[in-house]
Amino acid sequence: MAMRAYNTPFDGGGNRAMDARKANDRIAEKAEQLRFVSRVPMLCECSEPACRTIVMIALGDYHAVRQSDDALLTAPGHRVGGAALETRTSNYDVRRLGRSDDGDRRSA
Ligand SMILES: [Zn+2]
Repeated sequence: MAMRAYNTPFDGGGNRAMDARKANDRIAEKAEQLRFVSRVPMLCECSEPACRTIVMIALGDYHAVRQSDDALLTAPGHRVGGAALETRTSNYDVRRLGRSDDGDRRSA
């Protein structure tokens, strides 16, 4: 009875997130060329390979998220292996890699 890790931090999850991130960077570039003033549709960067959720975010906010290398943009409630929720808005969550929000609270 081998236990199979369903949600390995950084492996499956991280790579999927990186792909979504690259795609989103291209979307941001296009949006700038087209001078989008309202929100831009971005791909959710969660760990679920089948996720096709679109996240609407203002370009300025997107760039603010991208300032940090370890921040990921997801649809509200979508999870990334090895990342913890940092900011929640009504349209999207910002999660940060290198932390986990699944219980690991050592400093009581
Ligand atoms: Zn997702």
